[in-house]
Amino acid sequence: MEKMTRLGKSDLVVNPVGLGTNAVGGHNIYPNLDEEAGKDVVRTAIEQGVNFLDTAFIYGPERSEELVGQVVKEYMRDDIVLATKGAHQFEAEDVVINNSPSFLKKAVEDSLRRLGTDYIDLFYIHFPDDVTSKDEAVGALKELRDEGKIRTIGVSNFSVQQLKEANKDGYVDVVQGEYNLFKREAENEMLPYTAEKGITFVPYFPFASGLLAGKYDENTTFDDFRAKNPLFQGEEFKLNLAKVNQLRPIAEEKGVDVPHIVLAWYLNQPSIDAVIPGAKRTQQVVDNLKTLDVDLSDKEISNIDDLFS
Ligand code: NAP
Repeated sequence: MEKMTRLGKSDLVVNPVGLGTNAVGGHNIYPNLDEEAGKDVVRTAIEQGVNFLDTAFIYGPERSEELVGQVVKEYMRDDIVLATKGAHQFEAEDVVINNSPSFLKKAVEDSLRRLGTDYIDLFYIHFPDDVTSKDEAVGALKELRDEGKIRTIGVSNFSVQQLKEANKDGYVDVVQGEYNLFKREAENEMLPYTAEKGITFVPYFPFASGLLAGKYDENTTFDDFRAKNPLFQGEEFKLNLAKVNQLRPIAEEKGVDVPHIVLAWYLNQPSIDAVIPGAKRTQQVVDNLKTLDVDLSDKEISNIDDLFS
């Protein structure tokens, strides 16, 4: 069942179905989750052949990295492709974004310590700041790559213009940005650029925070950030649920469920080599791996495209 794939021009080889660990620890946008349950999610992923783990300093902050690192220590480090992100700086009461070379170098050292490892497979600049030139920021990561502290360079939440500046010397391997069937702006300029340059694009919020996993109905309520997310409000929520429901017949015909069709559709888009769905329960991790069994025909791909256009 396992179909491995390479990230960009790098030598990182991953299972296309990875794991987003934003919820692990329950300290970030998804509250009230047990730390041990979070570690079990990560453990289950690794046991089931998921080797691409996505975390960040700000998830917690710090705690998702620490918990992921604790689980990774139970396995062979080289079997796992560990991605993390940094750029958030705590200043008194405020959090600011800092892409300065000195700050990014410190951020990598701090992530290494929290993860309990001596190399990070993929380090992303989590958000762009307004002042640092992006090639200078990536230049700092190139130095860390030459030192063996990170293996590949990523940027996240960059505009196409910022990405072009960041990639002036061709050092960017992976871009992470918001993209899902409800948020498709990346198709305009981002995906054509990453495809042309051989850069992998990793979409975040692939399930639009669960909406595209196909299990909610009009009566579902939320006690976290989704309570205010426009996709989950009133008439728009109902319309979105109706669109998701139109995926059911396609899923049923293939003997899978809606989330697998959704993830498989992304994996058919240019430069999307891997996905990192979040999960709160071990069962969701196991379930999402069924994506690897889905082959979508060109007609099915374009039908889904039309449903959400
Ligand atoms: P997501 O992947 O869009 O949605 C995750 C939610 O989908 C889960 O909490 C669960 O919802 C539901 N789900 C997952 N698998 C399911 C299944 N098989 N069946 C039914 N429901 C399922 O949202 P996310 O976790 O927030 O985002 C994914 C990852 O992207 C994050 O973990 C993080 O690593 C990354 N990310 C990056 C950035 C960035 O700035 N670079 C920003 C946000 C996220 P329930 O709550 O209903 O259980």
